[in-house]
Amino acid sequence: MATLFDPVTVLDGIGRTRAAALEGLGIRTLYDLIAHFPRDYEDRTRLLRIDQLEPDHPACFEAMVISQPRTSHIRKGLDLTKVTVADQGGRLPLTFFNQPYVAEQLQYGASYIFYGKPEGGLIGTQMTNPSFERADTPGIVTRRILPVYALTAGISNKLLTKAVSQALDACRGHLPEVLPEALRQKFELCDVEFAYETIHRPPDFQALDKARRRLVFEEFFVFSAGLALIRARRAEAPRPPYARCDPSPLFAALPFPLTGAQRRAIDDILADFALDKPMNRLVQGDVGSGKTMIAAAAIYCAAQNGKQAALMAPTEILAEQHYRHLQPLFAGLGVETVLLTGSLGAAAKRRAREAIAGGTAQLVIGTHALLTGNVEFAALDLVIADEQHRFGVAQRAALQAKAENPHLLVMSATPIPRTLSLILYGDLDLSIVDELPPGRQAIDTFLVGERLRARLNGFIRRQTDEGHQVYIVCPAVEEGEDASLKSAEAWAQTLQQTVFPDLTVGLLHGRMKGAEKEAVMARFAAGEMRILVSTTVIEVGVDVPNATLMIVENAERFGLSQLHQLRGRVGRGSAKSYCVLCSDHRDPDTRARLKTLCETGDGFRIAQADLEQRGPGDFFGRRQHGLPAFKAASLSCDLETLKDAQEAAAAFLAEQGGIEAECPALFARIRALFADSETSFN
Ligand code: ADP
Ligand code: MG
Repeated sequence: MATLFDPVTVLDGIGRTRAAALEGLGIRTLYDLIAHFPRDYEDRTRLLRIDQLEPDHPACFEAMVISQPRTSHIRKGLDLTKVTVADQGGRLPLTFFNQPYVAEQLQYGASYIFYGKPEGGLIGTQMTNPSFERADTPGIVTRRILPVYALTAGISNKLLTKAVSQALDACRGHLPEVLPEALRQKFELCDVEFAYETIHRPPDFQALDKARRRLVFEEFFVFSAGLALIRARRAEAPRPPYARCDPSPLFAALPFPLTGAQRRAIDDILADFALDKPMNRLVQGDVGSGKTMIAAAAIYCAAQNGKQAALMAPTEILAEQHYRHLQPLFAGLGVETVLLTGSLGAAAKRRAREAIAGGTAQLVIGTHALLTGNVEFAALDLVIADEQHRFGVAQRAALQAKAENPHLLVMSATPIPRTLSLILYGDLDLSIVDELPPGRQAIDTFLVGERLRARLNGFIRRQTDEGHQVYIVCPAVEEGEDASLKSAEAWAQTLQQTVFPDLTVGLLHGRMKGAEKEAVMARFAAGEMRILVSTTVIEVGVDVPNATLMIVENAERFGLSQLHQLRGRVGRGSAKSYCVLCSDHRDPDTRARLKTLCETGDGFRIAQADLEQRGPGDFFGRRQHGLPAFKAASLSCDLETLKDAQEAAAAFLAEQGGIEAECPALFARIRALFADSETSFN
């Protein structure tokens, strides 16, 4: 009797070589195999007559072989086998490429079920390389819904289908049920045996839907239970509330009144500070909604209570910008701010470290190196991660280990589709900043091709004549292999020398040293440069209100959310702002994608479209997202199930004692799901 965790080599037809190939798909055990869900299905259930076949619509039909199959050798590496089949509806010529054995399998006068894609041609309908099997055998490749698996070299769909079938048979009766009976009844979820059986061998699409819903629910339930455990653990460690929180001196020092949304988010934070457990809050708001001031209010309160705050930005440029804005503001309020980044000189670094360790600095601004490096804090108690949508559960856990139960504030620059934010930040409380400071206008966005280059240059000229500044973003740093891509270096040079010799054109990219980058940014911010040619290093957070035009070259190379971020670099002051996406790509999907941006400024809508078009992996960039690998669930469309599962998990855990002892199967699954993410459940 096989068990779930036996290696795949116990199956017929799986030896060492194939087992090694399967490992490339993450499949080692029988359980891995049955948890390798099909990525798609082919509907081969309908049996048509030959005269009902439609070109380009694959279908099954039963027909008799009415000619002797003939193989002809066309040239080296090309054999053609031709045969004609017929049913009551008519005849159909079939052609097989390089499958001479077909001539022996197809017997003159016998009937078979075929599945293939009819091609309409000048001489009538025909078909190439159909699958077939005898009509008097049970259907394996015809007359059923065929699973289509993700494959790898050396593993065909047929081989995988067979292996999965064997594994299902071997595991029958042994699959652990992680969903409690009561829960399955409440949400009308099928049982585990039915689910795994049906997802691989669906008798019909209705059953398949049922199986899929259950498996998606299961996956989200396990995940949510894991998050809830993380939360529960945090809550177990109480901490004293802040004695006094009054950010009004900070508000009085600002040149503008806060928006209602900013005030609400700050109120949420103050309420967290009044509790005897650490704050775990996500502030989500569109680009330019003024999240920095929300962070400032939190920092001010921490300082008021004799504590230190660390503000982490994803890039040094952003850290420096925060420092430029916050240092003078806080200096007037008696809060000492230091900057600590990798590119500071040795002496400056030492001074900063001393101020942090000695406790004279209440606010430390830097990149994530602040927490991973060996910086010693005197009284770190508030950790703020700014613009950090690539910051998963695991990273947060690591970071919180740096201090005794610190408060945590995550500020997300990119609006994130609801499903993703529940997954990524499901363990956080949420404040949404859904209001922009007054006076902001919509940023007019255009998609243009190369033939409008002269007009575009004229437009740049008009903006600079009016005293405004312009960003130009290129996909590459230097001229490279891909000649179709504009490089920042070359383009900056061209613009400076031939198009705008009278203006100062700056250059900024990630390969420059920190100090150089800072100098360029500072000059642009001070208005000494009219045009800044850059790579995406300016993607998030950079704030120069006088810039009114954002041009993105080779716009097709960027994701929608990224473009939305780039666009958010303009429209930050009161002057009308514009964004021009340059692309000569003719691919209709690409154009439709870019058009989305011209039509809406709503970051949440854009993020959702981006997620649907690219999937969660690409949405965040490969492997940076800290998301567990979901097998059944689709993060772009299973929002309702996610919500149900999350509530169910919370309710279930609330009435459960130690789940480790009481629900070992569930606990094992939670550990497995979070295994990659460094979060320890031991
Ligand atoms: P983001 O949410 O993208 O981080 P920032 O905090 O950088 O936005 O704020 C964007 C700009 O808006 C900054 O120049 C900031 O000074 C300004 N700002 C923030 N809050 C307000 C407000 N209530 N009224 C007017 N301007 C504001
Ligand atoms: Mg910001």
